[in-house]
Amino acid sequence: MKSSRLFTGVGVSPGIAVGPLYLLGTDLPDVSHRAISEDQVEEEIARLHGAVERVRQQLEELKDRTKTLAGPEEAKIFSAQIAMLEDQEFLGDIERLVSENQLTAERAFEFKVLEVRAVWARSSSATLRQRVADLVGIQIRVLRALIGGETDEVLNENGAPPVIVLARELTPGLTVQLQKDQVVGIASERGTRTAHAAILARSLGIPCVMGLVGCMDEVQSGATAILDGTLGTVLLDPSDVEIRNAHRREGHRLEMARELDAVLEQPSVTSDGTAVSLWANVDLPEEVEVAHDNGASGVGLLRTEFLVIGRTELPGEVEQAEFFERVGKRFAPYPVVVRSYDLGGDKFPAAFHAEREANPFLGWRAIRVCLDEPDVFRTQIRAMLRARATADVRLMLPLVTEVEEVIRTREMVGEAAAELKAEGLEFGEDLPVGVMIETPAAAALVDELAELSDFLSVGTNDLTQYMLAVDRGNARLADRFNSLHPAVVRSLKQIVDGGRRAGLDVSVCGEMASEPIPLVLLIGLGFRVMSVSPASLPLVRWLVRRLDIEGAESAASAALKARSGAEVASLLEDYAAERIDLALLGLGRLPTD
Ligand code: PEP
Ligand code: MG
Repeated sequence: MKSSRLFTGVGVSPGIAVGPLYLLGTDLPDVSHRAISEDQVEEEIARLHGAVERVRQQLEELKDRTKTLAGPEEAKIFSAQIAMLEDQEFLGDIERLVSENQLTAERAFEFKVLEVRAVWARSSSATLRQRVADLVGIQIRVLRALIGGETDEVLNENGAPPVIVLARELTPGLTVQLQKDQVVGIASERGTRTAHAAILARSLGIPCVMGLVGCMDEVQSGATAILDGTLGTVLLDPSDVEIRNAHRREGHRLEMARELDAVLEQPSVTSDGTAVSLWANVDLPEEVEVAHDNGASGVGLLRTEFLVIGRTELPGEVEQAEFFERVGKRFAPYPVVVRSYDLGGDKFPAAFHAEREANPFLGWRAIRVCLDEPDVFRTQIRAMLRARATADVRLMLPLVTEVEEVIRTREMVGEAAAELKAEGLEFGEDLPVGVMIETPAAAALVDELAELSDFLSVGTNDLTQYMLAVDRGNARLADRFNSLHPAVVRSLKQIVDGGRRAGLDVSVCGEMASEPIPLVLLIGLGFRVMSVSPASLPLVRWLVRRLDIEGAESAASAALKARSGAEVASLLEDYAAERIDLALLGLGRLPTD
């Protein structure tokens, strides 16, 4: 997206860089279509192996370099690329293209890579789709090794000022070669947060923005730009004021980073002494350690969709039980709230063969799928019961709209426990069952649902989506997706009061709990448990310690009378600005001259 001088993409590595742009041509080399004669086949295959071996050695060197610069985990990115070049099936196919179709080594290599790329690009696995850039990296290297030309896309202008590199696509090989003293920022037209190049940019501490569609054709090398890896923007030809403000924002960001480092050891209590529990939302196994290191007192939302997405078969009971137990033990003595499959909407794994629906977000989703597919649900419930033998695992139900859904689930939990007992398997009795309040129907039925539940948790992402009839994933409606809309605010009050009447803990596990201004509202309304993404934990702790209950309550009660989201935001901001230096959070206004 672009508005005159401003290009907006996705910020994938935080920080601000100011400097001249350097457009990097990492386009693929042109491969001629000439054929070879039969007596050249052997020579061509030898050329292929020579080139592959040279590239393999380059990648080994990059791997060592990455290990030193970024760490052993990041170095594994290159192990995967090396493995590809050592894959006998892959190489065998290329050899066959040379011998049977009499293609040159470069043409055969390109042909095979294009075939693999097409499969990966269409794959339902996000991981494979994101690895296409790695494949392009190998393709460039091998083709260059065969046809000649610069193998490495390194900058080599000694003495030149540090630049912001802009490329169509960043390969990991390129990214790791960018020296911090030569390159202050990185930008690309393609790629997302999870691309390997993005991971490396974060490890190397270089601000990076990806997804700047069409940017390369609109700018010229040498033009000055401000790259903001936090906001995901590139601003061309900035004024002196804009440059000064960019440096100010960077100063604030660094100060905030120091504050967040220091807060980890401090308790999560408000300035007037009320404890606010901080739990983590865990989507992927690798987030468990981050959540733990960032001081989560338990997991308030363990999403289980990763267990099935991208797989052709559903995971079995033992596999799930082991995973739940492992996470449960890691957080002992705190609880781990496992959410049953929240499938449907935009997430349907191949294993389900679900039909296309006109309105998937109002369709066969979440608890509806689980109850209609009792075998699938039973496996998951049994896994939770088995994990509960050794860990404080709890079950949470997504997208509930009917009391009957909770009643039926409880019956199934009872049946599964009886089965496990009859089978002589170890399991934990009394699996707590909680409900996500994330539909207007559940909010309206909060008293009845609370009566049937052991705990409640508000999914503010879906609650906002369904309350306001605004698709949470529609970029065009992003401004209208507002969790501070009075309808949402009043619904939150109704929910927290309902939970309180029933004597239940009500946590918040939607994104709202990790945003500074909405957090004021949640605390002011009476929520005392926040479950947030692992990376947001230090910020939420830092915020909690600056808020006071009395002030937050009076801001929240004013917000309850507001007529618009803007009015709610401004009331909360006024309160927050008295206690928090909003500039540190990038929220305050910056000088205009
Ligand atoms: C929510 O809807 O707020 C929530 C936490 O669940 P998810 O984002 O997984 O739908
Ligand atoms: Mg939800």
